[in-house]
Amino acid sequence: MSFYEAIDPQFTRFVMFNAPVKKLATGFDWAEGPVWFGDANCLLFSDIPNNRIMRWRPDGEVSIYREPSNYTNGHTRDHQGRLVSCEHGGRRVSRTEHDGSITVLADAYQGKPLNSPNDVVVKSDGSIWFTDPHYGIMTNYEGYKSEQELPCQVYRLDPETGAIEAVVTDMVCPNGLAFSPDESRLYVADTGAIFDESADRHIRVYEVDGKKVSGGAHFHTIDPGASDGLRIDTDGNIWSSAGDGVHCISPEGKLLGKILVPELVSNVCFGGRNKHQLFITATTSVYSVILNREGMQRP
Ligand code: MG
Repeated sequence: MSFYEAIDPQFTRFVMFNAPVKKLATGFDWAEGPVWFGDANCLLFSDIPNNRIMRWRPDGEVSIYREPSNYTNGHTRDHQGRLVSCEHGGRRVSRTEHDGSITVLADAYQGKPLNSPNDVVVKSDGSIWFTDPHYGIMTNYEGYKSEQELPCQVYRLDPETGAIEAVVTDMVCPNGLAFSPDESRLYVADTGAIFDESADRHIRVYEVDGKKVSGGAHFHTIDPGASDGLRIDTDGNIWSSAGDGVHCISPEGKLLGKILVPELVSNVCFGGRNKHQLFITATTSVYSVILNREGMQRP
């Protein structure tokens, strides 16, 4: 049985027929938020319910990077290579400085605490864009149960002033997000109310104009499952988590193919020596596969 499924013939050029989907590490409860550190030759990812950030190295070593982690979820790196993290427990977005100290970047909007920042991306101008659904405050499983005081929105943090502004306000539960390679588009997954099976679960696309976005048309509905996290390759294809693995979607919104994964996938990131290794966080384990694609994300 093949590890992939080509829906469109071009997908067979995106994969290498003999590159396996490998299980790199296991024993987690909900692995999420993968981010590659080429300079440190490691992958960091969250194990959210266990309140820790894990580190995997290509030699197979798995260790704890930070515990407790304030129930971090999504991660990325800024242009200085610093780790930027969404914290459910802290209800904030934080940055880990080069000396290891932690700086709070955003924890409130209009005087009210954020819900539970979920995923984050840094634009070329240094602005930090993040989603803030309520999943991390609904129960005590992935954070601390708390009252929701703000709608579930997408925010932009200004690199000059440090202020945040709500840029997407018309979603149920914004989750994973990524810019197109030229940053003219912002893709945002809406995973809706997770306890409501009838809720919309799709990716929407917004046109980006500097600090603002407009549009928000339906782009693609993931089936089965939902798009929790997504990343972009250098040709603008979207690689998204799905119920049966990772789905690859063209910039036109067409499903091109799937990487089949035996556990429910939460998120992905590109990394490795040639930026062509797709790391996949999936429930209790982390997997990876070498693709004939390169990821967009820095560094
Ligand atoms: Mg997410």
